[in-house]
Amino acid sequence: MTTRRSATQPLPRSLDPLHDESLVGYVLRLAYRTGSTPAEITVRTGLRRTELSGLSLRPLHDLDPGQLHTFCTATSLTPTEARSLLLSDVASRYGPLDPSLAKGRTAQALIAGNAWASFRNTRYCAECLSGSGTEIEQLLGGAWRKLWRIPAVFSCRLHQRLLSTRCSGCGQPAQVSKPGHAILHLTVEGLHPLQCRNNIAPKGTRTSTPCGARYNLPDLPSGHPPDAQTLDAVLRLQDRIETLLTTAPGDAAATFGWRTPIGIYFFDLWALSSLIFLTWPECRPLTATPTLAEIMDEEVDQRRQNPPPHRGHGQRSRTRVYTIPPESSLASAAVLGIAERLLGAPDEETAYEALKGVIERSNRAGSRLGYRFRNTRQASVPFRATLRHDQRPWAAHQLPSRADLILKHPGMTRVTPPTADGSTTRQLA
Ligand SMILES: [Zn+2]
Ligand SMILES: [Zn+2]
Repeated sequence: MTTRRSATQPLPRSLDPLHDESLVGYVLRLAYRTGSTPAEITVRTGLRRTELSGLSLRPLHDLDPGQLHTFCTATSLTPTEARSLLLSDVASRYGPLDPSLAKGRTAQALIAGNAWASFRNTRYCAECLSGSGTEIEQLLGGAWRKLWRIPAVFSCRLHQRLLSTRCSGCGQPAQVSKPGHAILHLTVEGLHPLQCRNNIAPKGTRTSTPCGARYNLPDLPSGHPPDAQTLDAVLRLQDRIETLLTTAPGDAAATFGWRTPIGIYFFDLWALSSLIFLTWPECRPLTATPTLAEIMDEEVDQRRQNPPPHRGHGQRSRTRVYTIPPESSLASAAVLGIAERLLGAPDEETAYEALKGVIERSNRAGSRLGYRFRNTRQASVPFRATLRHDQRPWAAHQLPSRADLILKHPGMTRVTPPTADGSTTRQLA
């Protein structure tokens, strides 16, 4: 049962955050728990200044010290608990959420221009949302996990299933938000945390109506239920990715056999995914299963036939068709699986041989993507050095080796040192 509280009463510590819960999910559960609305909760916890101001997308990522203090005072959470609700909590391990790596290095740039972290909607596992059976989860549902907003998270390891992307009631992406409106229908009372708040009023009308369907209902039928072999490959890939996302700070991943900070490794993973889309079907032989290869065929066809609307002008907008992550969980797993396999090459020369087709095709396609990823400071040094491609074969002997280029940068070390004869295992894992 929920209890209605007056607006002036402080909120008692009435709700503990769940493991990996998102701020939106916590606000929805707290509002329902205390018999109030997300509008009231977001003002009382300092997420909005006044009843009239909107709820921006920024708090989903981070709170400034003053906001954090107000939030902790109002909810009786510790700063560590409150920070665990924010996407910035993962920033040191997932570069696309790290403002120090964002273009312009501002939180605003990170949220508005971020292809590889989702502030506008989320994926979800209906079984996780149904809750674990504890009294509080029976009442309020399970956590809306913050990792579901990272497109590199596409399956639930606990329930061994792919994540859903859309509400089965309205068919729109789950938990749609927009700038200035991180939660839709803020003032609507009585909606359960698992009920969809997306607007279903017909376009062009002035009214706004929340969908209200429950997210923990059976999913919309999918054109491609994965076969057992595919699901197994997807879940094993997810295991490796989530281990990186939740590992201790200071640990490193490997790009082409070189130690790479985990946050940067995810840039490499997405940059390479973009090149895989651009040059498809060049990497088709590297897909883990035939089903994943078919999924990639469909995903790329769809991208080429229905490119996403341009945002702004220039190259970046034109290449967006290849740089945005797939909406489909299965397609995300398909492309990231190939990219992970390529990044796992034991050294830069093996990687170059494996990527030659991709690099040449991207140059032939006249796309600037290869050039962009060779020069972005977001991707790792070995990644950039390996993409280097001189189209004048006769000039090759004048150029420094890739290893020399990499070693010019301080602190670069190999994960697997070369053997006595100077070679590493020349095989793509
Ligand atoms: Zn689950
Ligand atoms: Zn809906």
